[in-house]
Amino acid sequence: MKLSELFKRETLSLSFEVFPPKTDTAFESVKIATEEIAKLKPSFMSVTYGAGGGTSRYTLEIAKNIKENYSVPTLAHLTCVSSTRETVLAKIEEMKSMGIENVMALRGDLTPELENSDREKWAYRHAVDLIRDIKESGADFCIGGACYPEIHPESENQKLDIQYLKEKVDAGCSFLTTQMFFDNNLLYNFLYKIRQAGITVPVIPGIMPITNANQVSRAIKLSGSFMPQRFKSLVDKFGHSPQAMKQAGIAYATDQIIDLFANGITNVHVYSMNNPDVAAKIQANLSDILG
Ligand code: FAD
Repeated sequence: MKLSELFKRETLSLSFEVFPPKTDTAFESVKIATEEIAKLKPSFMSVTYGAGGGTSRYTLEIAKNIKENYSVPTLAHLTCVSSTRETVLAKIEEMKSMGIENVMALRGDLTPELENSDREKWAYRHAVDLIRDIKESGADFCIGGACYPEIHPESENQKLDIQYLKEKVDAGCSFLTTQMFFDNNLLYNFLYKIRQAGITVPVIPGIMPITNANQVSRAIKLSGSFMPQRFKSLVDKFGHSPQAMKQAGIAYATDQIIDLFANGITNVHVYSMNNPDVAAKIQANLSDILG
């Protein structure tokens, strides 16, 4: 099923994100975790793509398994910045042959090695280049793109960031998924600005349940997200106790999701990080709210 069809529905729904194993030996345990999440019957599941393409073959394998054996629509991520055009075009063909219908088209993060290399020689400099190649390949994918309510860390300012986002959407994105954020007002402001800029596609907010204190600094480093005082207090109070922190983090994420639903958002994406327990608890917290 194409996700663009799913997003036309009025019912409230949750989707979950999983990531492929970093090593071959971890494959079986990751597969089991993704299957446990699939059994919760989310509206869809997205499968990330290893930066640099490390264990990228597993992205498609996991996406196909979830789709075919659990009837959950899947979204396979694909990054381009460290790839040649040949590799990317081959990957697109492989996706087609595996029946993948939805692709999240991403640039990928810059490694120090890439940062120090000659950008003129890169086959892909931005996600928009990948989106154009997918379109030109004739593949009939529903394409998603990433967006950043708190602006992308490399961007000079939000105006430019939104201008490039519009280019990405015009190139062929049917929907956008946001980077994590911990203050919903940041999302509402962002939505207002992008709608003003003429971006009309569905925007799926991405919510990251922080379930241990160590995740906090990593999440901020990765996303540059603003931590509201309410969230900081919660980490200060419960961070030393893994069980308490997990419960508090799930409650905080649940609260964010309820507020999003109450404010007219119908689809929320949860960065469930191969953790069926966290996904199940959030879903259970919303059992009377979800359609
Ligand atoms: P782009 O859209 O190319 O934007 C990157 C920067 O370039 C921005 O500052 C933008 O303003 C600027 N820019 C864009 N177009 C132009 C242009 N034409 N000219 C000049 N500047 C431009 N990483 C992974 O490795 N694997 C994953 O599976 C993965 N999944 C993700 C899912 C989501 C929802 C999000 C939000 C991020 C994900 N990432 C993933 C991280 C992502 O790869 C990084 O955030 C990366 O730094 C940017 O990717 P992008 O596709 O947003 O890039």
